[in-house]
Amino acid sequence: PRTGPALPGVRHIVAVASGKGGVGKSTTACNLALALAAQGLKVGLLDADIYGPSVPKLFGLSGKPKVIEERLLAPMDGYGIKVMSIGFLIEPETAMIWRGPMVQSAITQMLREVAWGELDILVVDMPPGTGDAQLTMAQATPLSGAVIVSTPQDLALIDARRGVTMFRKVSVPILGVIENMATFICPNCGHASHIFGHGGARDEAARLDVPFLGEIPLDMTIRETSDSGRPVVAVDPDGPHAKVYRGIAAQLWANLTGGPAPRAAPRIVIE
Ligand code: ADP
Repeated sequence: PRTGPALPGVRHIVAVASGKGGVGKSTTACNLALALAAQGLKVGLLDADIYGPSVPKLFGLSGKPKVIEERLLAPMDGYGIKVMSIGFLIEPETAMIWRGPMVQSAITQMLREVAWGELDILVVDMPPGTGDAQLTMAQATPLSGAVIVSTPQDLALIDARRGVTMFRKVSVPILGVIENMATFICPNCGHASHIFGHGGARDEAARLDVPFLGEIPLDMTIRETSDSGRPVVAVDPDGPHAKVYRGIAAQLWANLTGGPAPRAAPRIVIE
């Protein structure tokens, strides 16, 4: 089901997408990429969100990527994974009005003119929404599959459904839906509230007949670590949040390859 020529050395390219902005797509993409790396996989993260590249900020990275040779850029290092962002390359305000062919050439360049090296998985943080730019990007990228991030409330789920439809249109398999900003645990009293509702994305996944990958709580720590450029999976790898992202990453990899990641490989039993 790949939609473009494969990228040499890169086993899988997976899009992280959302039907609309503000649902935590970029935060999820970053932490998911780090959680995949924590399973022993070689991981790259490509921030293709032309409308609001946020990966530089989420990883606390600035500056321009090094030019290795003509038409080849070195990815940046973000907590051990290879990172490239459209935000390193263009001024933040310029991309908003891009038309289809420009979008296509930008994504092609970021895929093919970056020295990704050998990767098990390249996670692509897609622009939010399901318009022409998003469709062009989905078509220009040789995707193995897509993940849809949604918050639990109805309004977000309608857009998530459009996301599933868009990827189906270009024959990209949906690897699963993630419910972000699910349960909120009050830091003072421990009471659980469902600010945006709860379980909506899981139900919607069942209705659309796509896998459900898990839910991420609405949590102050996730917001604070994102804003300070220190993703929670990197700075607190044994904490409760990292555990949630690792569980989702393991399920994602299993849905992608039909098997566990290297670190969870079956043990050889010698009798
Ligand atoms: P999108 O990429 O969908 O626009 P972002 O990843 O930029 O969304 O997230 C939007 C805001 O929500 C950011 O301030 C981020 O820190 C916050 N956020 C995302 N996920 C969570 C979460 N699970 N808990 C708390 N805050 C979150």
